[in-house]
Amino acid sequence: MHYSDYFFFRMNGFGGILTVSLAGLFLPAPLLVAQAPSEPVDLLITRARVIDGTGGVLEGATLAISGERIETIHPGPTQLQATLTIDAEGKTVLPGLINAHVHLRPPGVVNEQTLTDFLVDGLTADLYDYLSHGVTTIKSAGDPAALLIQARRRLEQGELHGPRLFLTGPPLTGVDGHPAATLFKDNTWLRTRHTIELASEQEARKAVGRLAALGVDAIKLVYQGSSDEAAPYLFRPGVPLPKMSHLIMQAIIDESHRHQLLVTAHTNDLGDALAVLEAGCDGLEHGVSRARLRGTELGPLLKQHEASYVPTLSLYARRRPEVLETAMGNLKWLADQGVRIVVGTDGIPSAGASGPDTLRELELMVEAGMDPDQVIQAATRNAARHLGKLEEMGTVEEGKLADLIIVDGDPLADIAQLQAIEVVIKGGKVVVDHR
Ligand SMILES: [Zn+2]
Repeated sequence: MHYSDYFFFRMNGFGGILTVSLAGLFLPAPLLVAQAPSEPVDLLITRARVIDGTGGVLEGATLAISGERIETIHPGPTQLQATLTIDAEGKTVLPGLINAHVHLRPPGVVNEQTLTDFLVDGLTADLYDYLSHGVTTIKSAGDPAALLIQARRRLEQGELHGPRLFLTGPPLTGVDGHPAATLFKDNTWLRTRHTIELASEQEARKAVGRLAALGVDAIKLVYQGSSDEAAPYLFRPGVPLPKMSHLIMQAIIDESHRHQLLVTAHTNDLGDALAVLEAGCDGLEHGVSRARLRGTELGPLLKQHEASYVPTLSLYARRRPEVLETAMGNLKWLADQGVRIVVGTDGIPSAGASGPDTLRELELMVEAGMDPDQVIQAATRNAARHLGKLEEMGTVEEGKLADLIIVDGDPLADIAQLQAIEVVIKGGKVVVDHR
């Protein structure tokens, strides 16, 4: 690894960081380190087992953090001084967890007044619940845009205490599609703010353009149901579900990419999942829960398109236990194929459930047969890649944002150790300390 080949030390008055290769020097390393005038870094984490999110593990390492970023990673002890030092002996340091499919609107928010009340009273608690369980980044995969844009601004300005927030705005669906005519059928306020129903390709392109102008980070579309009136699809017994046409779906994906936005699709069925991937979609939300995937083209297609699979197992555990076993088997098969698996819970705020649900999702992935290390990558590096933010977050590497968690024990031996979160660091600052 490159950081074992170099020592970095800070020069007083030099105004920068000088990198010196030991191979070019004659002084023995300890003398060199002792003589280096060093200015304290902001935060040192010492004697840590580091799971770096790429599959690598360091024992007894030191992490030096300055400002919001990881400055250096040392394989052992250092002479560096710090404003704050955390001794992590017996503990494990990991990248902060990323939950790439959440919702911020609780079920009780059904009109303007309840939305206003929630923004004042409820949002803070929910966001803090993620953070206190080690979730340093979330992606809202469908909420009223006003709620999100406001929340993101308040988070960025430090008025709200919570994870980094990425957002899609309202999901794009067909006329009378899901969730417009299923979950929100009786509430026009919700239906028109929480979804965008599209009747044509032109409307699709306009909607993507409006969302891009609003500042969303990604686009989400819903591709479930039937676009053939002669062959209806039942969402639930007695509830037929229309789906946007293939042309509208293709227009959304093309227009999103034209705006440099990644686009993911809510699917449930194999044919829909294959269709959106072939149209260039960057990921599947829920994926396939209505059929077994082993031996189908979906694994090779996901790999070929470098698309993500967000299985939302905790959603099924909560609300549709009858499909959980199929969803778990599908996940295991795709993970074995080397498909990029990403953690997402489809959680909605309910008192104190958002953080625990995220950890539950990781445990369900292990129950499905994935290795703890694969699962940790699904919640860190893979999720960062899924958000298009891997150069900034998702691994413990020099130069990346210092979004880190410190847990007691070893989550590679038992994923449930992630419940034993002691410290959460976001952007180089200790934001939660359970010690
Ligand atoms: Zn969702």
